[in-house]
Amino acid sequence: MKPVASSSDAAAPAENRAANFLRGIIERDLAAGTYAGRPFGGSPGDAAHHARGAADPARIRTRFPPEPNGYLHVGHAKSICLNFGLARDYGGVCHLRFDDTNPEREEQEYVDAIEEAVKWLGFDWNVDGPAGSVSHLYFASDYFDFMYRAAEALVGAGLAYVDEQGADQMRANRGDFNTPGTPSPFRSRTPELNLARLREMRDGRHADGAMVLRAKIDLASPNINLRDPTLYRIRRATHHNTGDRWCIYPMYTYAHPIEDALERITHSICTLEFEDQRPFYDWLLENLADLGLLARPLPRQYEFGRLNLTYVVTSKRKLRQLVEDKVVDGWDDPRMPTLFGMRRRGFTPQSIRAMADGTGASKTNIWLEYAVLEAHLRADLEGQAPRAMAVLDPLPLTLTNWVEVFGSAAHVEPCQAPAHPQRPELGTRQFGLGAQVWIERDDFAQTPPKGFFRLFPGNKVRLKYGMVVECTGCETDAAGHVTGVQARVVPGTKSGTPGADAVKVKGTITWVGRHDAVPAELRLYDRLFALAQPDAGERDFREALNPKSLVAARGWLEPGLASALPEQRFQFERHGYFITDRVLHRAGAPVFNRITTLKDSWGG
Ligand code: ATP
Ligand code: MG
Repeated sequence: MKPVASSSDAAAPAENRAANFLRGIIERDLAAGTYAGRPFGGSPGDAAHHARGAADPARIRTRFPPEPNGYLHVGHAKSICLNFGLARDYGGVCHLRFDDTNPEREEQEYVDAIEEAVKWLGFDWNVDGPAGSVSHLYFASDYFDFMYRAAEALVGAGLAYVDEQGADQMRANRGDFNTPGTPSPFRSRTPELNLARLREMRDGRHADGAMVLRAKIDLASPNINLRDPTLYRIRRATHHNTGDRWCIYPMYTYAHPIEDALERITHSICTLEFEDQRPFYDWLLENLADLGLLARPLPRQYEFGRLNLTYVVTSKRKLRQLVEDKVVDGWDDPRMPTLFGMRRRGFTPQSIRAMADGTGASKTNIWLEYAVLEAHLRADLEGQAPRAMAVLDPLPLTLTNWVEVFGSAAHVEPCQAPAHPQRPELGTRQFGLGAQVWIERDDFAQTPPKGFFRLFPGNKVRLKYGMVVECTGCETDAAGHVTGVQARVVPGTKSGTPGADAVKVKGTITWVGRHDAVPAELRLYDRLFALAQPDAGERDFREALNPKSLVAARGWLEPGLASALPEQRFQFERHGYFITDRVLHRAGAPVFNRITTLKDSWGG
């Protein structure tokens, strides 16, 4: 079966797709009808907990399961694009599920931020069906009742027991790669006694950490994850969703397969580090199905290689450290690889999706060059960002013969330029050339180096979209710094007039008129880390920080930018792509972030 074509904005052309072994698996399952006519899982009492939209059981279902304990980053974006993308391409559904089984670390703030980030990336868990729009937003904590009942069923079947050994004893008795585990003295208790104990745990009759519920599997298994893993622990903590209702909480490894099964996920896609958990995933679901608590066919877990980006760290713990140590200005600092940071920096959702699609899915962890992500970004911005002139490091230029040529010092020559060189439908920009303009400091040299074609005494250049000027000299301060430049305008050379080509020049420079320029705060961002693998080896990853990741500047913009709204992107000619800051930008007090330079200056 071929991927279903989609008209969605988030669709990637099939021919651009990188190798992705998951497509093969899904196509095989669809062709074999593995999930066709799949019955509604669980007992009737659990109906409220089951996946909505059950009317269409042949669909494949994937899920993106973040833990709401931090902000999503570019690595999560890979997983989102993969899971939502596969569901989209094969006419399936992708669930957004909060894996909120850990009460201490989770917060509503993160839940809200995660939802916003997934939407911004261009994906939607609301799916239109015959009966209207169906929401596929789920919380693991909604299944706590079912999970507890499943635990009682496992205990009743002799497949789980309450272990009262201390944590240290448990660890010591687990053995290691060479030594099988030693059975706990509690392992052989009867199901009746275990059940009574489990209920006491649930009812708050025991202290935190006094005992745990463990699966009874195989203490000699070479896979440590099968040596009677913990299923439930006692933890008196207030949960963001269930409050103080529970004092026992399921372990992630126990909860996750159940969440997948209740939601009738077909392909449970996760990163490679979960490979060793797959035997437990299958053990648990097979047993719960045998006990009549879940319906077959059961979800299957597939692992793919994690995406790592050079010059970026994607560990939530390390990102949190940068925020807490105030190395960056919050989770949404434009240098952060969080989706909020990348959005504020000016990344487009399209460029992130293109990067994700371009990396496919494989069985090994991959390192992607940051330059590849930036190339996707530039490719996207090139076609859409309107052009503008901006002077980032201003130097005043005075046209000394202005009155002679135009009769008045206040005269302004109207100039225009296309908003985008390839897109005439975007119209033209208007601005004026007057006797005083701002030019870029490094466009002038008192003594030009070889091959310098811009302004120096005696040389002629074109003020882009304006006129040709001939430099006559400059002023310096006591320290020898240039404080101003003089030139004479060459009459009859205005761009777009018949005389424009009469005088040949080798250089064209950007400028803005002092009479109409808009002052702006410019934040020249660069990579947060100066080393390709910031967290490699023994070094503290903070030693790899790039000291020049933010250079603050004040510059001048062409007048049309006075009306820019927050989150508008531009290409400042010769300088790079910029975006108005979505938090700080105001009309009258513009703040622009540099998204990226026009070319990669890092050399890969
Ligand atoms: P932790 O669990 O240590 O807090 P995490 O990055 O695994 O961090 P989760 O919220 O559990 O955070 O991640 C949600 C999903 O995103 C998981 O399925 C995880 O495998 C996936 N994911 C996270 N980082 C990457 C990455 N770099 N590449 C691909 N997928 C990733
Ligand atoms: Mg995780």
